[in-house]
Amino acid sequence: MTVRTRIAPSPTGDPHVGTAYVALFNLCFAKQHGGEFILRIEDTDQTRSTRASEQVIFDSLHWLGIEWSEGPDVGGPHAPYRQSERGDIYVEHVQRLLNSGHAFKCYRTTEELEALREARRAEGNFSALKQDDLALPSDEVARREARGEPYVVRMKVPSEGVCVVEDLLRGPIELDWAQVDAQILMKSDGMPTYHLANVVDDHLMGITHVLRGEEWINSASKHKLLYQYFGWEMPVLCHLPLLRNPDKTKLSKRKNPTSINYYRKMGYLPQALLNYLGRMGWSMPDEREKFSLEQMQAHFDIQRVSLGGPVFDLDKLTWLNGVY
Ligand code: GLU
Repeated sequence: MTVRTRIAPSPTGDPHVGTAYVALFNLCFAKQHGGEFILRIEDTDQTRSTRASEQVIFDSLHWLGIEWSEGPDVGGPHAPYRQSERGDIYVEHVQRLLNSGHAFKCYRTTEELEALREARRAEGNFSALKQDDLALPSDEVARREARGEPYVVRMKVPSEGVCVVEDLLRGPIELDWAQVDAQILMKSDGMPTYHLANVVDDHLMGITHVLRGEEWINSASKHKLLYQYFGWEMPVLCHLPLLRNPDKTKLSKRKNPTSINYYRKMGYLPQALLNYLGRMGWSMPDEREKFSLEQMQAHFDIQRVSLGGPVFDLDKLTWLNGVY
């Protein structure tokens, strides 16, 4: 089996150092196993995604020396690598789930959903909305369908119980189904949501290992269910720790510059920033502080990633930059 990893950024702004951090670890993991690292652009949110921002992602990663072997700008056997250009693929897969009964069309309007939630809250019921809660009488569905009213496609989810997701670093993670709504897979404009597009693409692009930030852990139960619905093998999941400010809060613009471009414009050396990101929760076997991308690739071992919340400290980065 060839190891294949990816990053899948959404081009909605100035790329964050967290994107470079996740890219670096995916690249090292793939190279360490003689595998491939690919770039996919997740631009299904058409209101927020721009080509300009996509270009900045390419430029920032190139500047850092992070190279991918397949992607929107280099092509590859799974092209196109922009989700906005893969609409037919998602429509076909949503249809498969509708045919197999794992998904359903939901004609509920926003107002109806709000009223439903409100009524449940009044009863002290804060649980997630499942397929049965959302169901409309079949004659009403037929009427709305005949009138061509907008609908979304949702996946069916278990109403109770626990989903156990294996994580390469964290071991088994238990996620409670009671908290999970019947997730929208396709919006009323025909665009897929993150969950559907991400799972379909990871499968079709042969991704074997998904290394991503821990903010995505809660999505893992839905993804696992989607893999089961499609009858596909799930990639190995590995949720990397979030970068933190020195006070341990999530890395934020208020406390640290978070844009890769900031460091580029301020004259930081790309090798120094990459080296510093490599030390976020990871260290070389001999603990040396200064190392190149090649050295990191040669010595990389995912099991040596520590989950302790790596601190991104501008002073330390500036020091490291100074020794280059
Ligand atoms: N599009 C997601 C992001 O913006 C991808 C998350 C994932 O890696 O699954 O980070």
